[in-house]
Amino acid sequence: MTISGKPISGKTGVAGVVGHPIAHSLSPILHNAWLAAAGIDGVYVALEAAEGGFRRLVEGLKATSFRGLNVTLPFKTDALAAADDVHPRAARAQAANLLTFKDGRVTADNTDGLGLLAAFAEQAPGFDPAAGPVVILGAGGGARGAAAAFLDAGCPHVRVVNRTLGRAQALVADLGGEAYALADAEAAFQGAVAVINATSAGLADDSAPAFPLAATPDGCVVMDMVYKPLITPFLAQAQKLGRPTVDGLAMLIGQARPSFEALFGQPPPADVDVRALALKATGQ
Ligand code: NAP
Repeated sequence: MTISGKPISGKTGVAGVVGHPIAHSLSPILHNAWLAAAGIDGVYVALEAAEGGFRRLVEGLKATSFRGLNVTLPFKTDALAAADDVHPRAARAQAANLLTFKDGRVTADNTDGLGLLAAFAEQAPGFDPAAGPVVILGAGGGARGAAAAFLDAGCPHVRVVNRTLGRAQALVADLGGEAYALADAEAAFQGAVAVINATSAGLADDSAPAFPLAATPDGCVVMDMVYKPLITPFLAQAQKLGRPTVDGLAMLIGQARPSFEALFGQPPPADVDVRALALKATGQ
């Protein structure tokens, strides 16, 4: 049997991504392009799980030859809870975006932080995380992963700005830093070397908060985890102010690379333009 000309046999390694919803996911495009280029006998599929159905899915798949799963909204916390072993990165983020299955055991990891740092290295090459405070907007799983990654990379402290102040306070109680309410974002931006949007606010609609990026210093790198559209209103505002920017697609690809290696046993080939494939798939 073949799928798109690729032979599928009883030996084909199967991995995937699970979320709710999942149809929009770009991960199958990235991973299958890498599998084809590397000549690996494997396939990467998208699985929709019902809310409340995640645990049963993992319990079933871990008893099979399934290699593992990337995990996206809303299951990143459930993924951590479903694991037998947890990488310190995932424990610090209190969220997992990668589960690998071996000998009936489930290991949780979080490669989002690695992806974030890879995106900065690629699109803001002179950026030094140790040069000053980093502001993170949001206090969910993405924000936690970002805070942990920057602190591990030498950032002196993080400032967490969130709609629900208590969640920002809980984050900094775990990881260190300062918590700010949305109304105090301007104060948080003073002297920042980077600002990262890790909120899931509908940035294209009017209900999303408009952050006062003009309060950031010149040269402050502005990043948005959202990648559709590639240039979000948040990044467009930063570019208008002349700030260097990093987009969420670079982070998505950056987290997919170590995920691929964990799932298929080797790094993805470097010579596949997965960014172009992802942009084409999203009509950009
Ligand atoms: P999450 O755990 O659900 O957290 C959502 C955060 O957004 C919370 O801090 C929440 O504030 C805030 N928020 C939601 N609606 C808001 C609004 N209208 N105004 C202000 N704040 C609002 O989500 P997550 O997993 O951290 O993901 C956050 C975003 O990052 C999502 O868009 C996700 O797709 C993206 N992401 C991208 C990548 C990538 O590879 N590019 C990786 C991970 C995540 P409250 O605490 O007040 O509710």
